[in-house]
Amino acid sequence: MTGLDSLPVAVIGAGPVGLAAAAHLLERGLEPLVLEAGPTVGAAIREWGHIRLFSTWQYNLDAAAVRLLERNGWEAPRPTALPYGNQIVAEYLEPLAATPELKDRIRTRSRVTAVTREGMDKGRSLGRENAPFVLRIQDPQGDVVEVLARAVIDASGTWSTPAPLGSSGLPVAGEALARAAGLVTGPLPDVERDGFAGCRTLVIGSGHSAANMVLDLARLARTRPETEVLWAIRAASPDRAYGGGDADKFPARGQLGTRLRTAVETGSVQLLTSFRTEHVELTGGSSLRLHAQDGRALNVDRVISATGFRPDLGILSELRLDLDPAVDAPRALGPLIDPDFHSCGTVPPHGVKVLAQPEKDFYLAGMKSYGRAPTFLLATGYEQVRSIAAALAGDTAAAHAVELQLPETGVCSTAIPGSGDETAESSCDIPECAPISLGLPTGLRHGRAAESART
Ligand SMILES: Cc1cc2nc3c(=O)[nH]c(=O)nc-3n(C[C@H](O)[C@H](O)[C@H](O)COP(=O)(O)OP(=O)(O)OC[C@H]3O[C@@H](n4cnc5c(N)ncnc54)[C@H](O)[C@@H]3O)c2cc1C
Repeated sequence: MTGLDSLPVAVIGAGPVGLAAAAHLLERGLEPLVLEAGPTVGAAIREWGHIRLFSTWQYNLDAAAVRLLERNGWEAPRPTALPYGNQIVAEYLEPLAATPELKDRIRTRSRVTAVTREGMDKGRSLGRENAPFVLRIQDPQGDVVEVLARAVIDASGTWSTPAPLGSSGLPVAGEALARAAGLVTGPLPDVERDGFAGCRTLVIGSGHSAANMVLDLARLARTRPETEVLWAIRAASPDRAYGGGDADKFPARGQLGTRLRTAVETGSVQLLTSFRTEHVELTGGSSLRLHAQDGRALNVDRVISATGFRPDLGILSELRLDLDPAVDAPRALGPLIDPDFHSCGTVPPHGVKVLAQPEKDFYLAGMKSYGRAPTFLLATGYEQVRSIAAALAGDTAAAHAVELQLPETGVCSTAIPGSGDETAESSCDIPECAPISLGLPTGLRHGRAAESART
C-alpha cells in the first residue's frame, strides 16, 4: 500500500472554497491537488456571473489566498465594492489559479465520479484509516482515471444539483418534458440575454435566487411593459423572503428583500402564496399551464425554478458519512443551519470539530457542507478550510480555534414557515440551550438543539 504522507490532499472543486483550501494546504506544507469538473476554475459561479453578490469584496476573499496572490503582485479590489459573480472569477479566482504555486496543482475538466478507500469498500473496517483515498475521475479525454490521496476535501458545491419543482422533493408530472423544452429553466438565467422580455414568467421559490430573478424580471418589465412577472412561494406569507431589511448586517442582502417587498406592494409582481405545484402541462409548443395542489391553474410562457439545491452524495457512497437527516449537512452542523428552525443567516464559526466525519481525513466544505440549507457564506467556508488544513497538518490548537465573526441577516426566528406560527420568535442572540455537546462556542441557540436539550 502507498505511504500516505507522499500523497496529495485531494480537493474536489475549484470554486472559491476549493481554491482557498489549496492555499491553506500550501501554507501548511501540504500538497494540494484540485480536481475541477468544469473547463475553468469558478465554473459554477460563471453560470450566475451576471448576478451581483450581496457581500462586499472584503467578505469574499480568503486570507491565505490573498497572501498567495499578494506575493505574486496582485492588487486587491476595493474592499467595500459589491462584485458580480463574473468579477469574483476574473479578478480573484483566475489570478489565484494562475499563481506559479497553484497552476500545476489544479486539473480542470476532471470530474470526480466516485471516492473510496484503496481496497476497502464501505463495509470494511480493518486498516481503513491507513488506506489511501481513491478518487475516480473522468479526465479531459473522457477516460476514467484514478488518483490516490491522503485526505479529501469535497468542496464541489451544490450548483449542479438543483431541487425539483415538487414540494414533496420529487419532480412533478410533466416537469422533465417542460425542462427539456427549455420552458422550465434553472434558478438563475440571465433574463435579458435568455429571451424573457415580453414573456409571462413565473418564478418559484423564496430564497435569494428567487428574489434576484423576480427583481431582474421586474426591471426588464420597466423597459418591456408586456413582460409579466409572477412569483409563487410555498409559505403562507412572504415575510421571511423579505429578510431583515435595515437590520441585515449585509446592507445589499437587506435591500434585496426590501426591494422585493416594494415590487410586490406596488403591483409590479403578482405574488401567489401557499402555492404547491402539482403538475405542469405543455400547451402548444411554447407555453405552459401550471396546476397547483389546491386547484389553481396558471398559464405562463416560462417558469424559473428556484427551489433550492442539494448536495450530490452519490459520489461519496463508499465513504462513511454521518449527516443530519434533514439537511444532509454534517450532523453537528445541521441543527445550526436548518432553515425550518434557524434563519439568522449566520452560523457560529466552525471547523473540524463540527465537520469531522467517521471517515477519517474526509471533509465536506463550502456550499456542499450546508447540504440543502441555503444560507452559506463564503467567509464561513474560508474558516472551514483554514481549520481543516490546520487539522491535516497536525496543528490541533489552530484547527479548533475560532477566527470569524459573521454578519447576521436580522431575521432570527425559530418559527416554522408555513406552519401558521410565524411570529418570528427571536432566538439567535439568546444565550441559552447552547449545544455544548457539539463542541461549539456558547451563545448559540437553535430550535432543534433547544428541543433536544429540553427532552
Ligand atoms: C446567485 C448566488 C449569489 C451568492 N451570493 C453570495 C454572497 O453575496 N456572499 C456569499 O458569501 N455567498 C454568496 N453565495 C453563496 C456561496 O458563497 C456561493 O455559492 C459560492 O460559489 C460557494 O462556493 P463553493 O466553492 O463552496 O462552491 P462552488 O462555487 O459551487 O464551486 C464548486 C466547484 O466544484 C465543481 N464541481 C462540482 N462537482 C464536481 C465534481 N464531481 N468533480 C469536480 N468538480 C466538481 C464545480 O464545477 C465548481 O467549480 C451566493 C450563491 C449564489 C448561487
